[in-house]
Amino acid sequence: MIYRMYGKTGKKPSILGFGGMRFKEIKNRDLCVEMMVEAAKAGVNYFDTAPKYFGTQSEEIFGEGFLELRRLGFPFYCATKTFEASEAVIRREIEGQLKRLNLDSIDFYHIWCIDKLEEWRMRKEKGVIEAFKKLKEQGLIQHICVSSHLIGDQIKELLKEEILEGVLFGYSAYNFAFRQKAFEIIAEKDLGCAVMNPLGGGIIPENPDIFSFLKLNKKESVVEAALHFLFSHERINTAIVGFGELKEVHEAIKAVESYSGYDNKEVERIKNTLPDTFKDLCTGCQYCDNCPEKIPIPKLMDAYNHKKLYGKNEALLDRLKWHWNISPGEASKCSECGECEEACTQHLPIIARLKEISELAP
Ligand code: SF4
Ligand code: SF4
Repeated sequence: MIYRMYGKTGKKPSILGFGGMRFKEIKNRDLCVEMMVEAAKAGVNYFDTAPKYFGTQSEEIFGEGFLELRRLGFPFYCATKTFEASEAVIRREIEGQLKRLNLDSIDFYHIWCIDKLEEWRMRKEKGVIEAFKKLKEQGLIQHICVSSHLIGDQIKELLKEEILEGVLFGYSAYNFAFRQKAFEIIAEKDLGCAVMNPLGGGIIPENPDIFSFLKLNKKESVVEAALHFLFSHERINTAIVGFGELKEVHEAIKAVESYSGYDNKEVERIKNTLPDTFKDLCTGCQYCDNCPEKIPIPKLMDAYNHKKLYGKNEALLDRLKWHWNISPGEASKCSECGECEEACTQHLPIIARLKEISELAP
């Protein structure tokens, strides 16, 4: 396993992180805990969850997993988050989190999901900075971090805040262009950096032929190649993979074991090969999934990815029909209220895409 110092914290997370947002069999707690133990056996020590992943179930599973890791003697760090901003509410939230997680203190506590600078200003006005400072002074958290879906320039603005010790954002082999600039301030201030969605929410493994340009040799799987690309970025401390099942844990561990470094030429080749069209794909994060017209936006945007990836409408229609079983006519219900575009972590033109999809309806 590779370990890199997380900014100035003195902590060294594993380059592969364990994300608790995609368990396929959430009710099978033993299996979920087994996945955590398998990862820890390979040296994974960074475990990332949140209070709203499957309700509170992800944190509860992590709590059970941490008891087991402790019993087996595996070291670990816990990262979790809060949307709250005022001290009283955060305090209530963290009390529940510590209990669920079976911890006395959270290693990396994140001000969760800053997707607009206006939102950042609002949370600061409500006292989030002072609240986090107090939690740290009292030892309830170890390090103050922020998670964000902003683009690179805006993340630079966000990270000017002196109190922040690290940042978490989505970054993968096809959407890195959105956030590349954030690394300038990360390096300048020596901050920690965790990245999520390293496999693009499944798009990369599901399209091995299209993403084969990531591979350095024939033996590599596309998952290995996509993770290697991230491991090669020296400012990334941990790439968090949201594991669904055990075999995905093993595949990601294999990627760590087979990593032997990249030279800059290879990284540049990959960056230059990446077609422009790959930069604006939906990652399936579902932050937009609150449409007043009940339009299943993430499913429709996932299907639109297929149009982008394969370059034809048939791919979009096939995906809608055979994978999601929904009609393109669903897209025509859009009243253009704009809520989904405001929420979209990838800043996608959802309304225009829905129009295109609705025009394909028979
Ligand atoms: S813009 Fe359209 S798709 Fe988006 S939330 Fe509003 S009605 Fe739903
Ligand atoms: S459309 Fe945007 S917010 Fe919705 S799932 Fe895709 S990336 Fe996420």
